[in-house]
Amino acid sequence: MPVALNIASHVYRNGRARPDALALSVAGADLSYAALADVSRRIAGCLATARRTGRVGILASRSLAACAGILGTAWFGGTYVPLNLKLPEERLVQLLATLDLDALVVDARGAAMLTPAVEAQLPATVLLAAEARPPVALDGRTVFRLDALPDGGPTEPADIPDDHLAYIEFTSGTTGVPKGVMVPSSAVGHYLDVMQAWFGFTPEDRAAETCDITFDLSVHNMFLAWQAGASLHVMTPLQMVAPARFIRDRAITTWLSVPSVIAMMRQNRTLQPVSLTSLRISMFCGEPLPVGAARAWAEAAPNSIVENIYGPTEATIACLRQPVVEPVVVTPAREIVAIGYAYPGMRAAILDAELKPVAAGTAGEIALSGKQLAIGYFGQEELTAARFPRIDGERWYLTGDLGMEAEDGTFHHLGRIDNQVKVMGNRVELEEVEMHLRTASGSDHVAAVAWPASAGSASGIVGFAVGAALDAPAIRDALRAKLPAYMVPSAIHLIETLPLNSNGKVDRKALFADLDAGRFIGREDAA
Ligand code: AMP
Repeated sequence: MPVALNIASHVYRNGRARPDALALSVAGADLSYAALADVSRRIAGCLATARRTGRVGILASRSLAACAGILGTAWFGGTYVPLNLKLPEERLVQLLATLDLDALVVDARGAAMLTPAVEAQLPATVLLAAEARPPVALDGRTVFRLDALPDGGPTEPADIPDDHLAYIEFTSGTTGVPKGVMVPSSAVGHYLDVMQAWFGFTPEDRAAETCDITFDLSVHNMFLAWQAGASLHVMTPLQMVAPARFIRDRAITTWLSVPSVIAMMRQNRTLQPVSLTSLRISMFCGEPLPVGAARAWAEAAPNSIVENIYGPTEATIACLRQPVVEPVVVTPAREIVAIGYAYPGMRAAILDAELKPVAAGTAGEIALSGKQLAIGYFGQEELTAARFPRIDGERWYLTGDLGMEAEDGTFHHLGRIDNQVKVMGNRVELEEVEMHLRTASGSDHVAAVAWPASAGSASGIVGFAVGAALDAPAIRDALRAKLPAYMVPSAIHLIETLPLNSNGKVDRKALFADLDAGRFIGREDAA
């Protein structure tokens, strides 16, 4: 059987080579490599008692339970599935029902979500963080406490086949059903090898974990650090609001986050020149990187290289890169940094609607192929076939991003072809919001737009409904029960007609213009 490298093997290796070195600092706890390897092995032992699907849900984030749960799942040879702590009960129940998990790892915040309806869908095995206090009894489940795990488990991480899935990452889906992107360990291994070869992470590095485990930038942060024997410092959402202090206090050397963080720091004036001197590698991914933001970061972190990296979850974290060096390679008419060149082992192409390559300088859809492609969407074969077509015998992923390849081979990102948006870094399909808005409002004539937005990223969503049966606050309440908080419109306007474009579709540009002009300010129907 061809084997892939188990992503837990780095923690195992460093646990033996550098047992006392700091591996993880999270929520007031510091764990050495030996301690992290030990808890991972023990978790693997608990999971092995009832193996069926190999899938383990992680209802946890930015906690020891989240990191150890991920590593323990990998050690046992399983597939981890991060579950968003912002999911409403109904969506969590639906996900648990489709996932057929072997076990669920739960931290204190996750425990608060274990309502009776969720409990009914729980797998046979539940691993609880020491501080987790679930409001239900968990009758009939085998419950392990992470602070009192039985000694045992395999001494080394399990051998895994080449097609083994490292994780399934859920993201918004246009039909209202979230899409579970199935990412193989081989793709993660390739990504880590490429990054290590370029940037040479060392045991002296101190990496920040800037995001939730439901976002795949977390995989870069965790596993590049652990591969190098470096330490990972997990930030709280509060520390992310003004991260300069955390970076200085911990002398963070490597950073990867969404660019919105820079915008936030510039807004609250915490991004000062020469203030982040410990950083040596800074990367941004997940949204367009405005040139002004990139320059401001470079000024604040004079000892750091700065890179824009691009890629969807479906191609494992990122697969194109553009260093930010003067003169910065700027995307024409957009004031954002180019997305650059494909990683080794990956290819990018710009295709037309017939999936034929277009000439340099012409806009088309960005397609990706190579070693980092995901296997597809969990339980959604048709969607997988549509988004991962074979072209001339090669498997590609159609990103839905509009792009252009310049004459010199540099790729540029020119927005989206569809209505996928980033709201504070979270990937959202506006059709999914509209689908729930239709049900909640009892109206077929609805629209959702990402607003206010700049440089491809939005800070909120605004909804519109014509002839709604309920008032705006009631509609919002109904949406809160269906959608994670970041997908619930911050305002809903009940209007008489929706503007249509010449194709008879909702004219989102006109709605933007109305919002920009403040036409809805002060309306009573704004929730
Ligand atoms: P996700 O799957 O959450 O990583 O989102 C992938 C999408 O984020 C891509 O299809 C792009 O639309 C956007 N994206 C990611 N990185 C960049 C970047 N460096 N510049 C512009 N857009 C980006």
